Amino acid sequence: MNTIDLIGQTPLVHLRHYSTENVRIFAKLEMHNPGGSVKDRLGKHLIEQAIARGDLQRGGQLVEATAGNTGIGLALVATQYDIRCVIFAPEGFSEEKIEIMRVMGATIYRTPRADGMLGARQAAKQFAETEGAYYTNQFETQDNPAAYKETLAQELIQALPSMNYFVAGAGSGGTFSGVSEVLQVHGVKSVVVEPTGSILSGGEKGKHDTEGIGVEVWPPFLEPSWIDCVEVVPDDIAFRHVRELARNEGLLVGSSSGAALEGALRVAKRIEQGDIVVVFPDGSDRYMSKQIFQYGGV
Ligand code: PMP
Repeated sequence: MNTIDLIGQTPLVHLRHYSTENVRIFAKLEMHNPGGSVKDRLGKHLIEQAIARGDLQRGGQLVEATAGNTGIGLALVATQYDIRCVIFAPEGFSEEKIEIMRVMGATIYRTPRADGMLGARQAAKQFAETEGAYYTNQFETQDNPAAYKETLAQELIQALPSMNYFVAGAGSGGTFSGVSEVLQVHGVKSVVVEPTGSILSGGEKGKHDTEGIGVEVWPPFLEPSWIDCVEVVPDDIAFRHVRELARNEGLLVGSSSGAALEGALRVAKRIEQGDIVVVFPDGSDRYMSKQIFQYGGV
């Protein structure tokens, strides 16, 4: 085995406290990947597909724009292929993620917070053009949803054939797109979760503190017909769920998991019977410097 082989096959746990006899909620614990998030799956797929196509060689250089977890996934997999990893990350996101990318050998450039992810994307694209680096381009490439079609979606079908609803947050929209496309064929309905200040439900783009989710432009690979419903979750509810999940289930999750749980709970309220699966993309540990457990003045 090597580090890459540790990616995927994460546990699916029953959320005892949040389930009833008739409506059960299960969480896919993506913090169990070696880089600590769902994005390890993406890092592996982006690099291996680019190598397979001949777009990237061992010893080559790649560049990406990311708030952190994709950068960690890329940096982790890059170590195994001797690839140099350059990351453009907006200011304001968790410093732990930056530290983790750096210690795994990535070169980090910060872009102004006010320019959002779009600013980081522009900077990464420009770097690729001027330096001849391979731009993995998570926000536009079909390799992004494909990373989950072949892994996460298949793991869920295998672990819980009785699943009726799938709930996941959207940042790039890759996780949701890849899994929902596969699951619709199996009769599963998919619910996408976004923070207030994200555009999928037709709202204006704006600031939010829930980290990792929130969409500024409609993802090109997200087919609207795969969405059964969009749930908009305010920051304070997401962070409250982070604290309650720790107390109720002993699970230490990031704020995007808290938001996703709220989406699952809203589905649970609407149905009389069924099994709901929700993705928890990462853990609390990488947000300690942002006082994740104290958000909202608790
Ligand atoms: N939660 C966290 C913590 C993330 O880092 C990401 C990726 N930005 C997501 C959720 C959303 O995943 P996706 O980009 O596949 O929509």
